[in-house]
Amino acid sequence: MKTAIITGITGQDGAYLSKFLLEKNYRVIGITRNLQSGNLNGLNFLEVMNDVELVEANVFDLSNIIRLLEKYKPDEFYNLAAQSSVGLSFEQPIGTLEFNIISVANIFEAVRIVNKDIRIYQSSSGEMFGNVSKELLPIDENFLIHPASPYAISKATTHWISVNYREAYSLFISSGILFNHESVLRRQNFVTKKIIASAVKIKGNELDILKVGNTSIMRDWGYAPEYIKAMWKMLNVPKPSDYIICTGQANTLQDFIEKVFIKLKLDHVKHVKFDKTLFRPVELEVIYGNPQKAKSELGWDYSMTFDDLINKLIEDELKYQEWWNKKRFV
Ligand code: NAP
Repeated sequence: MKTAIITGITGQDGAYLSKFLLEKNYRVIGITRNLQSGNLNGLNFLEVMNDVELVEANVFDLSNIIRLLEKYKPDEFYNLAAQSSVGLSFEQPIGTLEFNIISVANIFEAVRIVNKDIRIYQSSSGEMFGNVSKELLPIDENFLIHPASPYAISKATTHWISVNYREAYSLFISSGILFNHESVLRRQNFVTKKIIASAVKIKGNELDILKVGNTSIMRDWGYAPEYIKAMWKMLNVPKPSDYIICTGQANTLQDFIEKVFIKLKLDHVKHVKFDKTLFRPVELEVIYGNPQKAKSELGWDYSMTFDDLINKLIEDELKYQEWWNKKRFV
């Protein structure tokens, strides 16, 4: 039985990755910053809460990580913990840079000290490429990194720390450059979750208006439970590397909204209002990548269309709200 440590287990990817690894018969150790107040909804909704071993730890404390590695002797380490919101990073730039960068350096250093055979997955992000001219798209692994938010700067920095630890200390570190991937477990402050959860509430007469910011932006959106499979694949090939994980296609936020509202038989003109305060200081206009390397080297296979994604997100949201309502009244 292999052992995996996952930081950020309470987040979207952490919950789906736990389920996936448990199905592969891994022992899953999940790091959380606070066992008492952690958000365990994702793990409970996916019914894996009783099968993962949650451990409270502080990734700012190098000695704490060293002790964890010595105690659990992991084969694989998935580093998913991060302040992951671009919007929030403009409000909290120092906190975002501090946590997202130092935690990664600590983890790599601890692995270098304890056992260099531990394989590490580092969550990088398509955001680190910044505002790219349309004619240069799609983005591949060798594209110029030019981050346009504090979040993106933190991810660009840790991407290069990963490359450096791989080259300088021969650690097995793969950097997954994931583009936006969505699911029902996205936090409420992410736009896709907000749109779908609000639309379902509007349908149920619990809400009247959805407020949105800039809807002309174009993003390469995929389905999170499919993306986490690529993380595992990256650690189960002979050599570490960097991989873009995306669909290869971009759609506007306006398209996203309209498709959700049409699917739920709602009038988006009546229920969706623009709110200037939701615009960001710097906004990426359009971004999409090229997943060819992951497809050919990892055999990662993603076949969902944009419509499949929207249908799945709505279906999952309905199940989630039903589960949540039952849980609330028990
Ligand atoms: P998420 O749902 O926001 O989860 C983030 C996790 O990090 C949570 O478990 C959270 O713990 C933990 N965390 C945040 N701030 C922390 C802090 N200061 N100290 C300790 N733990 C902290 O993110 P996700 O969507 O699963 O993404 C996973 C990783 O992939 C992140 O590194 C993200 O930046 C990256 N990524 C995501 C996307 C995407 O589209 N989802 C795209 C590219 C890259 P709490 O529950 O305690 O808050």
